[in-house]
Amino acid sequence: MKVTFPHMGTAYIAFRALVEGLGHEAVVPPFCTQKTLNLGTRYSPESACLPLKINIGNYLEAAELGAEAIIMAGGVGPCRFGFYAYVQQEILRDLGCGMEMVILEPPASGWRQLLARIKLLTEGVSPSQIARTLWLFWEKLVACDRLEQLSLTVRPYEIEKGSTTKALYRVYRAVDRANTVDMVRKAFRDGMAELHSVPQDRNRPVLTVGLVGEIYTILEPFVNFRLQEQLGEMGVVVRRNLWLSSWILDHLVLSAFRRRREAELLRWAKPYLHHFVGGHGLESVAHSVQLAHEGVDGIIHILPFTCMPEIVAQSILPSVSEDHQLPILTVVVDEHTGMAGIRTRLEAFIDLLAGKKAVFRRCGIEEAVSGAGWTAFAGK
Ligand code: SF4
Repeated sequence: MKVTFPHMGTAYIAFRALVEGLGHEAVVPPFCTQKTLNLGTRYSPESACLPLKINIGNYLEAAELGAEAIIMAGGVGPCRFGFYAYVQQEILRDLGCGMEMVILEPPASGWRQLLARIKLLTEGVSPSQIARTLWLFWEKLVACDRLEQLSLTVRPYEIEKGSTTKALYRVYRAVDRANTVDMVRKAFRDGMAELHSVPQDRNRPVLTVGLVGEIYTILEPFVNFRLQEQLGEMGVVVRRNLWLSSWILDHLVLSAFRRRREAELLRWAKPYLHHFVGGHGLESVAHSVQLAHEGVDGIIHILPFTCMPEIVAQSILPSVSEDHQLPILTVVVDEHTGMAGIRTRLEAFIDLLAGKKAVFRRCGIEEAVSGAGWTAFAGK
């Protein structure tokens, strides 16, 4: 069977290994472009979330390459993600697109249904091969996350603009090519070394910005206008606590693990938010408070237009900003958002943070522009 899946950052690397390991042909859709977005917006309801529209574009482009089935994650809870895959299924059916949709929902929505769908994909594959494939999938997922994480701390210091990004894409290709766990581990070690060896000016003053928000907009560079790259090239270290590997662990694998993480998030989000609000709304609040305590200079909150959980977070973040004296910029994206507008807002925000930090320095305060530093400044 020719199987495809939607793009979400580097997820295609691990999903290609998963699909091929289970004996299918992986059809990776072309990377997201304006064509993908145009296709998605043409055939999706106008009020649907932006990620849903881009996924539709991915499927239609994969259909042109011969894809016969789609793997898509499902969800439970108060946001629209729970209906997402089913709405997509209906849209494709209306278009006469005969692709089968395999929706993998979290175990919370029923183990029996999840197992039946997994069986569809694993028919005739031995248990040992399934175990090897899942292991390879996981290694690739974690390797890509950790390599990206390192790139965020290298890029602001790079001497030649764009060199970290070029090295990172070379390293991703090596992880993608690896077809055993040992090969992935070697590609990962070499990749870490390659990123560390990017020529850097470590004396350059940099800012640190936390990135919170809806997971798809954080992970997919086409949708967030390559936000991390733009910030890095402006001399900003990006810190974030939301990664694809942790999302998969939370949503599709370990509910016990999820409960423990949720309790921790609630502790950080107190007193602003006391319960799960769907999507990553709780994470956005909790991570903002956590990042404020870690001393970041500012926070960027990114969300798709009309994203319900993030609108809840958006209404709370001004209180977090005030209590921690921490500038927070909210960036809302949809199909009408343009690169120039985002760039202008980022530059203005970074100027503000740099100006604030310079005032601190002149006053002899070395802490970042967060609670402790600001309180000391205000007291001078
Ligand atoms: S988290 Fe936001 S963007 Fe994602 S499905 Fe829910 S409402 Fe839509």
